[in-house]
Amino acid sequence: MSGTAILVVGSVAYDTVETPEGCREEQLGGSATYFSIASSYFVRVGLVAVVGRDFKKSDHALFEAHGIDTSGLEYAEGATFRWSGLYEDDLSTAITRETQLNVFSDFTPNLKKVHGSSPYLFLANIEPKLQHSVLEQMRRRPRIVACDTMNLWIDISRPDLWSLIEKVDALLINESEANQLTGERSMTRAANALLERGLKAVVVKRGEYGVVLFHRSFTFAAPAYPMATVVDPTGAGDSFAGGLLGYLAAVEGSFDDTDGDAMRRAVVVGSVMASFAVEGFGLERLLCLTPRSIDDRFDAFVNLTQFHPIGGGQGLPRA
Ligand code: AMP
Repeated sequence: MSGTAILVVGSVAYDTVETPEGCREEQLGGSATYFSIASSYFVRVGLVAVVGRDFKKSDHALFEAHGIDTSGLEYAEGATFRWSGLYEDDLSTAITRETQLNVFSDFTPNLKKVHGSSPYLFLANIEPKLQHSVLEQMRRRPRIVACDTMNLWIDISRPDLWSLIEKVDALLINESEANQLTGERSMTRAANALLERGLKAVVVKRGEYGVVLFHRSFTFAAPAYPMATVVDPTGAGDSFAGGLLGYLAAVEGSFDDTDGDAMRRAVVVGSVMASFAVEGFGLERLLCLTPRSIDDRFDAFVNLTQFHPIGGGQGLPRA
């Protein structure tokens, strides 16, 4: 088997969600699921996670159909992780109704040798101790290590989370969580406080307002794709991360490039994949993309944000 460009560790779950557009029970979800499907359109991905004996064969087959290396998907005694969430008027914030860790309670990731040299590593939302454990098992320091988290871990595993942040290159985090973690009320101050802890980049996710990339040498903002109906926001953040890292891995980019071109494009590719994720329930839309549909949405983003500076050294009109 050829090596994987990106390794992801995170949750594989059965989600029950309620949004203003309807409800779905026990749909395939989880942070590593959304990430791996989104990034699989760009590179070969290796999935490290645990599921229970109740995990459906057809769901396993979905990963395989997307060329995802599932040799790191462990089957344990017990039930697959369950998450249940509600989205009310504010579609950017999920209200957790129930979390059942199930097989995640006793999970210790055991990296396959082939995975230890993956050049890109994404520590998707999962208990920080497990994120640490995967990072420590890498035989070579990946070109990029990025991580995500959520309010639960900020509440109950803050010291572990801070120590992880000090070891990674980039943190992807929701705006409210960045504020909660740093105690800052402004997004910019929160991002600066995080950069001061040694990160090369902080990506602040702002739901329908898009994302802002705070890099040590520049700041870049991308809007969310304007759409009439958001069906199910679950997985938008992980799909964003999958697009961002998938693109960077495909072009062998890093957070050290000084011009930032690849990083800016990667942020837009992330926004493209997030926009698809929210168009249907669960993975409905993400599973059936074509290179053409991804390119078209990318072009739509370029048109959405493109404007020319005023030429000839002129400023704006003045009264
Ligand atoms: P997001 O991209 O932030 O919308 O992530 C949604 C996914 O996070 C869902 O599919 C859930 O299964 C997963 N999730 C929710 N809570 C947790 C948790 N405590 N640990 C790991 N994954 C979780």
